[in-house]
Amino acid sequence: MKSSDTVIIMKCPNCSGPMYPHTSENAFECFYCGHKRKFSPLDLTAFAEKMRFRHQKTEVEEGLLKLPHTAFMQYWNFDEAEYTVNLYKGGFRSKVKDKYINYNANNVRWIPIDEYLENLDEETYKLITERGILYFKCPNCANEVEGFENENIFLCKYCNYSYPREEVVKFGYYNKAYIFGPKFLGMPYWYLPFEIEEGYAKHLARKILSRNSINDFPIEFLFEKGYLKKYFFPYELSDFRIRVEIESNKGRFQVYQEWINWGVPKNLALDVLLCDRIFSWDFSKMEPFSPAYIIGDIVILGHINGVDNIGYLNTITNYRVTERIKQTFDLKRVKIVKQSRDWRRNHSYSMIFVPIYYLECQLPKEDKLLRIAINGQTGSCSAVVKQRENGVFSLFDSGENVKSFDLLRRTEMSDECTIYSKPVKIEYLKPKFLYKILK
Ligand SMILES: [Zn+2]
Ligand SMILES: [Zn+2]
Repeated sequence: MKSSDTVIIMKCPNCSGPMYPHTSENAFECFYCGHKRKFSPLDLTAFAEKMRFRHQKTEVEEGLLKLPHTAFMQYWNFDEAEYTVNLYKGGFRSKVKDKYINYNANNVRWIPIDEYLENLDEETYKLITERGILYFKCPNCANEVEGFENENIFLCKYCNYSYPREEVVKFGYYNKAYIFGPKFLGMPYWYLPFEIEEGYAKHLARKILSRNSINDFPIEFLFEKGYLKKYFFPYELSDFRIRVEIESNKGRFQVYQEWINWGVPKNLALDVLLCDRIFSWDFSKMEPFSPAYIIGDIVILGHINGVDNIGYLNTITNYRVTERIKQTFDLKRVKIVKQSRDWRRNHSYSMIFVPIYYLECQLPKEDKLLRIAINGQTGSCSAVVKQRENGVFSLFDSGENVKSFDLLRRTEMSDECTIYSKPVKIEYLKPKFLYKILK
């Protein structure tokens, strides 16, 4: 525990009022008189033009889909075990590796987050778990503000004022030792700010538990102990297009679909399959990322170079594609037989941090595990409960809120959210790569 005298709070040079960070303005602004003080010395707005979206339009000729990018189909033998071994290897370098490397699929996905982080980056893990707490009296409401020593901007939870430290303003300094993973390379330039407040995130978590009658986890106790944490999670934006041949209870046919502004995870500390369910994100709200100006206690999960995404993409492809095809065509059984995928980074500077509330709790006695992921921008919420002994897990969603678009009418695609095309049944008609959409 440290005393409060090390915290020097920045004050407005005009009126001594409290100043708050305004990241889109790249400046601190006085709450009372509106005086602005630029973040220094970096001017991140210079990068603002560099994140460009260059989606390739679906080509349509005489009402036919032209699909050269998915020309070559491959047989699809989805093997979950293969996926998880790959998933596990991503980012690991140390001690639990040998312990888990030959484990079966499910065990690998279910590595507890603390264990994952400790092995990913032992030094940062130690720093975070042993960091000191600072206290001071809120200049606005006189309640006690509490913050960790690595925080640069403290948030009073009583009156919601934020207080930047004087050092931040002078130097724009953030101790990168607190970032999990590589500290300097590959840091995203962009982030989406948290728009959902913690109180509301808790409300959403309670709601998803009660609606699905998940009663065996002490949720209020977990909140009190700080289990619900805020994370900045790195994604790489890409556009994903896929043609599949499926076998179903209504026969064998081909389906084509596209996912625009979809994110490929660049760190595997959070349950990436769970987090995939809390899309969509509105990327038009992104701001330049500078860790010095983050408000409150947020765990930054760095972009891990060389994360092996193949296994992850295979799993998502299998789950998402079959799920959506089942819904769209009202099928009971769907199996992908062949597929041709085209996913690429169609954006320059496409790395971005997204805000996620995440809670994980294990009940060792019953060998049960709960994970909740909440989209910090929209409140989209997803939970998973895993009973270890039988390997079964159940997923609970607050309902998918990803927009769909019509492949033949791509003009609707002006906003920068994640959107999915409605899957369409197709049949090859004639060269070159022209497909008819079947009813
Ligand atoms: Zn002022
Ligand atoms: Zn206050």
